Amino acid sequence: MALPKEPEAQLSEGTFPAQEVLLQRLMQRVYKNSPFYQYKLAKAGISPDDIQCVADLAQVPFTDKAELREGYPLGQLAVPEEEVVRIHSSSGTTGKPIIVPYTKRDVEVWAEMMARSLAMAGVTPLDRVQVTPGYGLWTAGTGFQAGVERLGAMAVPTGPGNTDKQLEMMLDLGTTVLIGTSSYGLLLAEEINKRQLQQQLKLRIGVFGSERWGEKMRLRIEEILGIESFDIYGLTEIYGPGIAIDCQEHDGLHFWSDHLIFEIIDPVTGQQLPVGEQGELVITTLTKEGMPLLRYRTHDITRVRAAQCPCGSPYPLMDRVLGRTDDMIKIKGVNIYPGQLDYVLQVTPGAGSEYQIILTRQEGKDSMLVRVEGETGVAPEQLAHECHKNIKTRIGVLAEVEIVPQGTLPRSEKKSKRVLDQRDAEM
Ligand code: ZN
Repeated sequence: MALPKEPEAQLSEGTFPAQEVLLQRLMQRVYKNSPFYQYKLAKAGISPDDIQCVADLAQVPFTDKAELREGYPLGQLAVPEEEVVRIHSSSGTTGKPIIVPYTKRDVEVWAEMMARSLAMAGVTPLDRVQVTPGYGLWTAGTGFQAGVERLGAMAVPTGPGNTDKQLEMMLDLGTTVLIGTSSYGLLLAEEINKRQLQQQLKLRIGVFGSERWGEKMRLRIEEILGIESFDIYGLTEIYGPGIAIDCQEHDGLHFWSDHLIFEIIDPVTGQQLPVGEQGELVITTLTKEGMPLLRYRTHDITRVRAAQCPCGSPYPLMDRVLGRTDDMIKIKGVNIYPGQLDYVLQVTPGAGSEYQIILTRQEGKDSMLVRVEGETGVAPEQLAHECHKNIKTRIGVLAEVEIVPQGTLPRSEKKSKRVLDQRDAEM
């Protein structure tokens, strides 16, 4: 796809030999214990012995969110009920939520992955960690808390909301690590700024996750609070947050390949793509017991990297999530994601974060116009030229660029609203 490829490497062999053994065990386990997968595998004509390595996984049908919903509440349970110690659930904004059962070991493995994530962000047993995500059915609060405790740091479990109380705890306890969504982090940062509390705070690290579009936001939080921030990834269907995090290099997220297989597929054909290519992330849980998943489609667009990270971690890297497969647009035969444009604007000095993509077709040819807000005082011609060049080198398409004054484009939470596809109308 659009981004430059890295040299090929076999993550499944050599670096992590245990992965294959774990995969074989997983196949036996689901075949024996999960009625959901017994049916699915039998229907696909697969016996567990057919799947010996990551390449073999290509034969296994995907698991998607709709199937998990159909199994509500506990249709994917793969252990006897007495082994389940806890459930969490997805938010269920559309229809029934997905209920995820955890065994004692699942809870431990998740805490271990979260503790590793926090350690990678530089959290130590001397830190005081304010956990602002929600507790309860939602995975985040409980997940972070367990990781903090496992690491031996001090959890300050405030949960979300009540800004005055948050700031009081932060000041009185000398909180050093803040955990939350980037939008809540920004809200707190702006309040701290307003009240001029920076000098009295001891914050040094922020761990922010669960929102894909927060890059400029994160930079602003870092600036106001004078902290280093880390991007954490996860989804309810696979444990929750803490399955990947960026390291001090801030050039991608390490994921825990001894518990999870990350495959990248072409979101349209479903074909497995080689390491280094960009596509949809598909996750297989190697050690999960309560609700193991084979090839779960995340619909998140990213890339698994072949090269080892300079930080020295043996765990492989993935890119920050660029967008959702639903937001994909095809232009001149190239698949692009609005998230790629976010990235281009970030690396183009003088460009604002707001943009619009207008797609038209004239005489059977696609053309793409990108409207970008320029920062005040920047020469529009020069900025348009820079944007055009960066879109060409980083996304691989030629686009016309129009610079508009700051604050003139419509603000929208949904990235997809920024794309105006007028091609059908003209056919
Ligand atoms: Zn690293």
